[in-house]
Amino acid sequence: FEEADLEGKTSLYTMIDRDEDGNLIAIPYHEYFAEEVQKASDLMKEAAELAENEELKNYLNLRADALLTDDYYASDIAWMDMKTNQIDLIAGPIENYEDQLFAYKTAHEAYVLIKDMEWSERLSKYAELLPELQKGLPVADEYKAETPGTDSQLAAFDVVYYAGDCNAGSKTIAVNLPNDEKVQLEKGTRRSQLKNAMRAKFDKILVPIADLLIEESQRGYITFDAFFANTMFHEVAHGLGIKNTINDKGTVREALKEFSSALEEGKADVLGLYMITKLHEQGEVEGDLKEYYTTFMASIFRSVRFGASSAHGKANMIRFNFFQEMGAFSKNAETGLYSINFDKMNEAMNALSEKILMLQGDGDYEGVKALVDEKAMIGEELKMDLYKLSQAGIPVDIVFEQGVEVLGL
Ligand SMILES: [Zn+2]
Repeated sequence: FEEADLEGKTSLYTMIDRDEDGNLIAIPYHEYFAEEVQKASDLMKEAAELAENEELKNYLNLRADALLTDDYYASDIAWMDMKTNQIDLIAGPIENYEDQLFAYKTAHEAYVLIKDMEWSERLSKYAELLPELQKGLPVADEYKAETPGTDSQLAAFDVVYYAGDCNAGSKTIAVNLPNDEKVQLEKGTRRSQLKNAMRAKFDKILVPIADLLIEESQRGYITFDAFFANTMFHEVAHGLGIKNTINDKGTVREALKEFSSALEEGKADVLGLYMITKLHEQGEVEGDLKEYYTTFMASIFRSVRFGASSAHGKANMIRFNFFQEMGAFSKNAETGLYSINFDKMNEAMNALSEKILMLQGDGDYEGVKALVDEKAMIGEELKMDLYKLSQAGIPVDIVFEQGVEVLGL
């Protein structure tokens, strides 16, 4: 692949195949999947006819055209400009997770979404607070000199339908799109929180985990609002911190190579909690801080189950071990139940934030490797706890029952 002299080979929207003579060729998706995309495009045009919202109508028409050319730019811009639509549709070849070779090739997917107007309004104000929060990060000044962008939109949705890539394997509960960097520079991104999918994971996975592993007196602190906030602020917290190393090693991503996403996910988790703590102090976030901390902790058990091959899984293993060593939680040897030590939590959160931000800013590949080698693992005791969860039949992820029949249409 690297040696092939082939136009369009690294494109997000081409299939690599061989022609009759055995030569490598790059075929655009809209030719390779001509029949499928024509059908999808026709349906989107039909939907555009029915759409009452002008912005949505315009977007559906542009997106329907884009599927037939694989030029998504105009429809991405139209999507970012949609503000008043209550129905939303994300569709096309979007994420590259399935391409395990070089992450070039995207896979088709679609989400049908209903916007939660009230929640979306509440969320939109948080992005504006990022620059202020950046200044307060628990790390030396040179690691927080960058100015975070405030151009991200935050919105909450209920999902009506998942199809294709997003319905294969683990189910997304938050999406940050579009991926096109040109659109991002012009319009920012929209971070969409998928509320009902989150609620399902909370009810079917997180609460049963807490019932088995968290001290009874603290289970009352496990709340959906806290789970929602932790997930949401994770997304926002990707915008905090540092993107470029401070010692000329280029971007953090380049310097940390294969460890970059695990560390970035770990950063977003812990800085998300940092944001909540700060905003709670300022009265911008409601509820008892104990709810956010306990729910955060219980959520680690949920996420380490994704395993070491997932960036999220690895990040959670590191955090579990780091927090345990700092005494942020402890396990009762007799009952086997965990309890959170709220007074140590803040300290552990700040220490881990500082460590990650410095590793990123220094582009310290060896340092991250050491952290991963030492802490991204599941100890004997945790292994037994996770075994307990699978014995109890608690699923690792949810599966959707969906479609027109389920909706009774
Ligand atoms: Zn993330």
